[in-house]
Amino acid sequence: MLSATIQQMYIVVVGTGYVGLVTGTCLAEIGHDVTCVDIDEAKIKRLTKGDIPIYEPGLSDLVHKNVAAARLHFTTDYAQIGAPAAIFFALPTPPNGDGEADLSFVLAAAKSVAKVMKNYTVLINKSTVPVGTAKKVRAMIKELTDVPFDVVSNPEFLREGFAVTDFMQSDRIVVGSSSPKARAVMEELYQPFINAGVQLMLMDEASSEMTKYAANSFLATKISFMNEIANLCEIVGADVDLVREGIGSDERIGRRFLYAGLGYGGSCFPKDVLALHRVAAHNDYDFKLLTAVMDVNERQRLLLVEKITDRLGENLDGVHIAVWGLAFKPDTDDVREAPAIAIIRDLLGRGATIKAYDPEAIANAKRLIDDTVQYADSALGALVDADILVIATEWKEFAAVEPEVIAKALRKKMVFDGRNLFATADMRQADLIYVSIGREAVERA
Ligand code: NAD
Repeated sequence: MLSATIQQMYIVVVGTGYVGLVTGTCLAEIGHDVTCVDIDEAKIKRLTKGDIPIYEPGLSDLVHKNVAAARLHFTTDYAQIGAPAAIFFALPTPPNGDGEADLSFVLAAAKSVAKVMKNYTVLINKSTVPVGTAKKVRAMIKELTDVPFDVVSNPEFLREGFAVTDFMQSDRIVVGSSSPKARAVMEELYQPFINAGVQLMLMDEASSEMTKYAANSFLATKISFMNEIANLCEIVGADVDLVREGIGSDERIGRRFLYAGLGYGGSCFPKDVLALHRVAAHNDYDFKLLTAVMDVNERQRLLLVEKITDRLGENLDGVHIAVWGLAFKPDTDDVREAPAIAIIRDLLGRGATIKAYDPEAIANAKRLIDDTVQYADSALGALVDADILVIATEWKEFAAVEPEVIAKALRKKMVFDGRNLFATADMRQADLIYVSIGREAVERA
């Protein structure tokens, strides 16, 4: 339970995307007064009207509640931010041409902040950035202002789809700073969480910056490891889901991030693993494990296409394919680096026609893929006139569809499931050809 009374602080969050909007809203929810700044005028206009630009469970209600309580405000104008005690940077750090984290958004925002800072401010970097970024930001701001400030690293570990819960019930808060004054501000800011038992981990800024990359790279490694096990399971006749249960019960291993599938995607893992790999290379360190993690992931995302062409041939002219799932994972509308997008592009290139359905991600997918793709407004709608079904995201509603219904709809009676959503016995019972990951394929009787 979070404590009811806090020392209210005035906080600014720069960048109102997945991390920034959640951070700002949750800080308002615990009682702080928060202004969110973004240069995207359309986004701020929508937020000002109470229209939430991203899908994140629980977020909409919380935004409305805190706007109504006058604790949450939105602006595009840096000149309006006043004199906050702390400013969070939640800006994109996409890969540049070499795969390194592009810091231009962080540095541009820091420049804008430097011009309007009025008195001592703690500048908190929530973006995922390589070791040395806090130093860079500090040096740049010093050139632009005489106002005192500290730069702190405070990486974010929330997961899209669980972002509000993860923020409100986080398992740790990592703060990298050697300034006692900045550390005190951070403790005050996060006091309700600390009172509720969340561990505050104070460390130097380099270790804090590295912690975020190490966390994401470790989780990506787990996923790639399990995908390698899955591929071997198929060859030797084992079932990866049983193997997962067998090893997941060992508390040294843990049950999470052990699901075989189409590999990791999204806006974080691919770019963060690559960025850490680039940092290693720049420092003349050959991070062999990360090279393998990325290679495995690259192969895994198109594995389902290989399984389709094994059965239907390389040329898919005239094959009409239903695709369930566009988001990189369930409970989000985020399609950045989603395996579904890569799969659809590949299938289109082979001449297939596609009708896709996703509960939340269609609007975002439309911006990335060919406009020949048709979209359905339900999972069953996508099956109409389809030859085969491809499952690319494990939304719960897909698993609730009866296999018999799928069998009846599909002309070629074939399901290619990249997320192991169905029990093989149920698909056999429905007389479907069912090809999944790390499990023996089901053939028709
Ligand atoms: P996002 O793209 O959803 O949001 C970034 C926002 O910053 C956008 O709204 C953009 O308009 C805004 N912006 C860009 N330049 C700006 C400027 N100069 N001033 C003000 N606003 C500006 O990004 P995100 O997914 O929230 O990620 C932000 C950072 O957090 C990244 O470094 C990411 O790696 C990290 N992170 C993301 C997640 C996640 O699940 N998305 C989790 C943990 C950490």
